[in-house]
Amino acid sequence: MYKNIVDLHVHTDNSFDGNHSATFFCEKAELLELRAVAFTDHCEVDQFKGDAEYEKRIFQAFFEVAKVRSAFKGKMIVLNGIELGQPAFDIETAEDIINRYDYDQIIGSVHNLRGGEDFYYMENLTLTQAEDLLKQYFDEIIIMLEWGNFDVLAHLTYPLRYFYSQSNLEIDLSKFDEQINKILELTIEKGIALEINTAALRQPLNKLAPEIDIIKRFREMGGRYVTVGSDAHYAEHLAADIDKAFDAALEAGFECITFFQKRTPMLMKIEKEN
Ligand SMILES: [Zn+2]
Ligand SMILES: [Zn+2]
Repeated sequence: MYKNIVDLHVHTDNSFDGNHSATFFCEKAELLELRAVAFTDHCEVDQFKGDAEYEKRIFQAFFEVAKVRSAFKGKMIVLNGIELGQPAFDIETAEDIINRYDYDQIIGSVHNLRGGEDFYYMENLTLTQAEDLLKQYFDEIIIMLEWGNFDVLAHLTYPLRYFYSQSNLEIDLSKFDEQINKILELTIEKGIALEINTAALRQPLNKLAPEIDIIKRFREMGGRYVTVGSDAHYAEHLAADIDKAFDAALEAGFECITFFQKRTPMLMKIEKEN
């Protein structure tokens, strides 16, 4: 129902948890008539120094995407990005990675707390434990934004999907308003885009990350840039529910989706098919 569908958060088999090649994704993107795809393989910055594989993996990821960009030229816009996990835990390494290759788009994410495991692995938490973890998580997002050398703030409500699926907890975010407002304020101040991530629509939580109320608040506070991403780790999830992310952007008052080319924001009007 929309023209110019884009997917700006995609993982290939150069992510530790990815499954399909960039070529296979682009073939799928061509079938779906996508306007743009941004490949954003994982680099968990806090694990980079301890894992010799990362050097090879980020080189390979950049190289593969450069090849498909050339091969699919004229068919779609291919963007060469990276998803940095926990960059503020080791800023020196994060800056080093950013400066190595000519990235289009740097995604900033927090998947775990300092010295902790990914929220993905946390099971059977009590509500108090989950709320305490979430408070620490939002504080880490704030620290990451204060550093701010990235373009897209990924899946702002990331822990909620696992609190729900692994601990059967639904969190009332109104308790975290102060932190969330600070996050949105910093995102705007730094010219960073807020991502509307659709991955949790494929999970038991079945919600956008973040939900419409936060996207609206971001707009009301003066936010200009929103991106959309499926966070696909399989080709069959490419562009999944991106129409719902477009719906949310429009509902929140955004006329455009933003993608980054050579780390410069490019605005693309959201248009419905006739
Ligand atoms: Zn992520
Ligand atoms: Zn991701």
